[in-house]
Amino acid sequence: MEFTHNISILGSTGSIGTQTLAIAREYSGIGVKAVTAHSNIKLLEEQIREFKPELAAVTDEKKAKELKIKVADTPTKVIGGREGLIAAAAHDSAETVVTAVVGISGLEPTIEAIKAKKNIALANKETLVTGGHIVTALAKRYNTAILPVDSEHSAIFQSLMGNHRKELKRILLTASGGPFFEKKRSELADITPEDALRHPNWHMGSKVTIDSSTLVNKGLEIIEAKWLFDVDIDKIKVLIHRQSIIHSMVEFVDNGIIAQLGAPDMRLPIQFALTYPNRLPMNGNELDFSELVELTFDEPDTETFYALELAKRAGREGGTLPTVFNGADEAAVELFMKRKLSYLGISEAIQRAMDDIENIADPSLEDILETDKLARAAVYKYYKGV
Ligand code: NDP
Ligand code: MG
Repeated sequence: MEFTHNISILGSTGSIGTQTLAIAREYSGIGVKAVTAHSNIKLLEEQIREFKPELAAVTDEKKAKELKIKVADTPTKVIGGREGLIAAAAHDSAETVVTAVVGISGLEPTIEAIKAKKNIALANKETLVTGGHIVTALAKRYNTAILPVDSEHSAIFQSLMGNHRKELKRILLTASGGPFFEKKRSELADITPEDALRHPNWHMGSKVTIDSSTLVNKGLEIIEAKWLFDVDIDKIKVLIHRQSIIHSMVEFVDNGIIAQLGAPDMRLPIQFALTYPNRLPMNGNELDFSELVELTFDEPDTETFYALELAKRAGREGGTLPTVFNGADEAAVELFMKRKLSYLGISEAIQRAMDDIENIADPSLEDILETDKLARAAVYKYYKGV
């Protein structure tokens, strides 16, 4: 099939980034015009040699200098620092920007990409969590599309296709439940990063894997869904679905429910965000119903995994509260990965930061970035016992 689409990938060395490149490898019509990494220049160099992008950005300045020397024999231009990430986001020849960096670092480049009239294949949920009101308004103003890459949101998007949004009653957002499903708080005190990184169904970057185990990820996804589909937080119901076969569902006013199913495989949501409204064949990983023993559904245990409730509160109250939720989590996960904070300390730190930091209504980008710094600083203080 004839298909051409030029893309820029922010975070090409990560889990979503490398899977996006696997799709580009399959379909030569997908042109990779810009790639970025934070520090993994070994992999970035391989990507430059294989995909021949016009631009490569490395946010770590020292590594950017090293890469410039390594790829001096190629026509690829290398830019370092935040400036490089922004340049890749607004790069001329790309029509769509895949936002696959981790954390709030995705917010500014996404804003710049929209201002440069790019469509956004959005993996970086933190962008909508922290700056949803700014990003969705800009996308309207510049007439660009935000296409979800997150599997649940892609499922909701696919299930809504051909239906009237005003007839939507609620969203049923599925969650795997992570590695500690059915565990109580007392059983989670000694959880190590290795335990939390063992996700039952998905292989993802470390931050999103830890977030899946605490249900912070599902909390972020509720807020992401609020902005993507313009629905109230209370119309989004989380269902624990251990098999990750139903990727989410929508329920209409007549009680009709439409779901999207498939084997857990991020290639489909990534590919669909690039080919929408068309679909391209996918090799392997078909859902085999004869092997499907059961589909189960449970209510989330919001006493143990109370970060989910904190996210709902942040999503309902809005302003900078979702940024506090996210920033505190980013800092807490970083400390947990360094074994400086206990596993249960992650949700505790988020709650404390949400209680301590003042909420600013209708925040500007500067307010959001400032609040993110405050939330991180608060968490570093807590762990030092201040
Ligand atoms: P990874 O950790 O695997 O990759 C992150 C990417 O961002 C890497 O390219 C990394 O570069 C780069 N990066 C890290 N820190 C910074 C920074 N401060 N500034 C700029 N770039 C940075 O993450 P994932 O691919 O798992 O996740 C990416 C996003 O997609 C997240 O927002 C996540 O929530 C979302 N997502 C991921 C899913 C998945 O299946 N993985 C599913 C749904 C959503 P380097 O390699 O050099 O460190
Ligand atoms: Mg998801």
